[in-house]
Amino acid sequence: MIPFSECAVRARVQPRRTLLRLLGAVAALSTLGTAPLFAADAYPSRPITIIVPYAAGGPTDRVARDLGETMRKHLGNVSIIVENAVGAGSSIGSNKVAKAAPDGYTILLNHISMATMPNLLHNMPFKIESDFEYLGMINEVPMTLIGRPTLPAKNYKELAGWINQNKGKINLGNAGVGSASHLCGLLFQNAVHIDMISVPYKGTAPAMTDLMGGQIDLMCDQTTNTSTMIEAKKVIPYGVTTAKRLTTPALKDLPTLEESGLKNFEISIWHGLYAPKGTPADVVAKINGALKASLKDPEFMKKEEALGAVIITDKRVEPAEHKKFVMSEIAKWSPIIAAAKEYVD
Ligand code: ASP
Repeated sequence: MIPFSECAVRARVQPRRTLLRLLGAVAALSTLGTAPLFAADAYPSRPITIIVPYAAGGPTDRVARDLGETMRKHLGNVSIIVENAVGAGSSIGSNKVAKAAPDGYTILLNHISMATMPNLLHNMPFKIESDFEYLGMINEVPMTLIGRPTLPAKNYKELAGWINQNKGKINLGNAGVGSASHLCGLLFQNAVHIDMISVPYKGTAPAMTDLMGGQIDLMCDQTTNTSTMIEAKKVIPYGVTTAKRLTTPALKDLPTLEESGLKNFEISIWHGLYAPKGTPADVVAKINGALKASLKDPEFMKKEEALGAVIITDKRVEPAEHKKFVMSEIAKWSPIIAAAKEYVD
């Protein structure tokens, strides 16, 4: 039995001990609480969204999905979500990223449109040079000129004749003003000196569906979207836009458009990653590191090669060189587009 006097002491001591224990627990909890908080702050700690400014199922979307799947492995297995923010060439999706929080959780995957948009779109709501952090380039992809399966022209020579007989009636599909297919179509019309009816879509995936269905006559698009359709004989191929023929099995017999007489008709599409301006340098470095590791991933490399894409292995995988290249492309395309626009809208 505890004597009364001791009981009184214990009674006095108890609340103090309880208070001390409580304070200790609070301190311990707060340490526990801050540890995961710091861990959560380490990038990336939540899903990353890659904005694709074109429709799902198209070539830009395909690169984003394959790359996202691969980059995830190099970013601690964080989820990478692809969101298609489509319309107005690629300016709606690109603008969304330009205006997003600069925290590395919203990034853009776009192609040559970053260099052609400034020459083709009026009142762009963002600036290519100053509204983005450049994260590195991904690949280069040739384009092909293809036609609906019912076109009565089996090769470019026959197509040239058909185009001459059908002036004013030819529907040329594209992914909107400023897109790669729009640029290629513009150059093509300029080269053949025939104005065609431009039919814009939200990406070349829906345009391809209409081409296969015969709703439009012609389209120019990346081999990453056209090679399987050519192989399956769902569309007719008329030429490739590179200086040399391709080695991709589905396209190796396809002549270049230059071989067919279209002088200086050379165009290759490149893709790159971008983050909003102000994204911290360490976050930019992490994304760039994951990109570079992904470009050496055998599975990703195999997929790209099979569709005729060439992975970037030179210094353009570095942010500063990526930016330099985009600026040089703006300068390169500006006079070509200006000259082509004198003839075609
Ligand atoms: N290939 C498209 C273009 O013409 C874009 C897309 O749908 O990926 O720019």
